[in-house]
Amino acid sequence: MPAITFYKHEPIPMEMHKVKIVQQLHLLPTARRLEKMQRAGFNTFQLHNGDIFLDMLTDSGVNAMSDLQQSAMLRADDAYAGSETFFRMRDKLEELFGMPFCLPAHQGRACENILATRFVKPDSCVIMNYHFTTAKAHITRLGGRVEELVRAEGLVSKSDLPFKGNIDLEALETCILRETPANVPFVRLEAGTNLIGGQPISFANMQAATDICRRHGVLTVLDASLLQDNLYFIKTREKEMQSLSVREITRKIADLFDIIYFSARKFGFARGGAILVRDEALFHSMEDLVPMFEGFLTYGGMSVKEMEAMTVGFEESMDMDVISQGPQFIDYCVDRLSEYGIPVITPGGGLGAHIDVKEFLPHVPQTEYSACALACALYICGGIRGMERGTLSEERERDGSERIASMELLRLAFPRRVFTLSQTEYVIDRVKWLFDHRDLVGGLRFVHEPATLRFFTGVLEPTSDWPEKLAAAYRADFGDEQ
Ligand SMILES: *Cc1c(COP(=O)(O)O)cnc(C)c1O
Repeated sequence: MPAITFYKHEPIPMEMHKVKIVQQLHLLPTARRLEKMQRAGFNTFQLHNGDIFLDMLTDSGVNAMSDLQQSAMLRADDAYAGSETFFRMRDKLEELFGMPFCLPAHQGRACENILATRFVKPDSCVIMNYHFTTAKAHITRLGGRVEELVRAEGLVSKSDLPFKGNIDLEALETCILRETPANVPFVRLEAGTNLIGGQPISFANMQAATDICRRHGVLTVLDASLLQDNLYFIKTREKEMQSLSVREITRKIADLFDIIYFSARKFGFARGGAILVRDEALFHSMEDLVPMFEGFLTYGGMSVKEMEAMTVGFEESMDMDVISQGPQFIDYCVDRLSEYGIPVITPGGGLGAHIDVKEFLPHVPQTEYSACALACALYICGGIRGMERGTLSEERERDGSERIASMELLRLAFPRRVFTLSQTEYVIDRVKWLFDHRDLVGGLRFVHEPATLRFFTGVLEPTSDWPEKLAAAYRADFGDEQ
């Protein structure tokens, strides 16, 4: 985004796009929202989208598309095998990443399934800066373990460090030696580290980490699902990289890794995914898994229309005007919440604003899923849907005990180019109201607890009648209709 400044105001993020198609929104009255929350088992994943005013659950598959993406969808070449659409997508990816081999898959977790199936054996140890839910689930499903070595300061919620996603380099080398390189199928670095608040990794850290891996003969994998945010932060926060274009930075990053995969529900503003590989033998070693799990090698379970849209989306991700939008809106929201004294992860990252629920609700223990409780409270008080990213999103330990998340977060995702500044102001306003009434929010417990990825389908109930009391306080302030 060009730095457009205002004559008489604070910094305000400027949209470098205009609205061409809209979707009407509805705000249910508070009493109806309380009912809908009860019916959804106090799990925001179980709400119906029509009952939501602002959907800030995720940035996955819900980013606004551009006119160029929409028009590209019309020329999609439908073919079971050899679709021209696939070759256009592969060529664009090779142009940007310099990796000639592309395994298409229907979304990010499908790539994770293929990588885990190919490389993970019982008791092997995958090292990461930080885990992502589905990446970890595929590894543990196969009996593998995950070692998270993000630097300690990455888990401190209030900070002014520019790259909180960085991996601890010393710990990485120690861990490879302790496990022995043969037992480490790959080291996975996650750009725009999702579960610690969309926090970026610096280019310097990626370079040093991949150097260590290469010295020990360990494969390196980049999860590039949130790469566009990470590119923005490298360009704006890493001094040594500022003279390079986004395209040049992308290529320099890609050159460090053996394998790159991504969810095109985020990267590319569409719906899909792919694994990119530089080495031909490595490519062939995974090739058979694509037709088995996804679809033929030239569509991988994706719609060709989506593949055309993402091909345009990859190119658009090289444009600073495009990739600035998310981080700048998030930064605005984070700054405003901080001014109100609301505990929020700083500095603002990509993906969304993240509220530190341990501080927001100190009276609700993490064993009562405080971040999920706050997500439910924000839906009841405002019709805003956020996502729990804390203890509920963890899996239990092998002995069945609860694994307490190191960060207990409520994520308010900012899908790209979707919400306006007045909608953002509404979110800030309702979070502030909740903060002033936080004593009214209580805990949750499971009624039905699935064994894996329990946050998607789990059914919970409140530990007291706090939702009713909270709704009553909200209606007293805003009336029955909102
Ligand atoms: C969303 C995401 C995934 C999984 O992608 P899906 O398309 O939702 O399956 C993997 N890694 C990261 C970092 C993500 O943000």
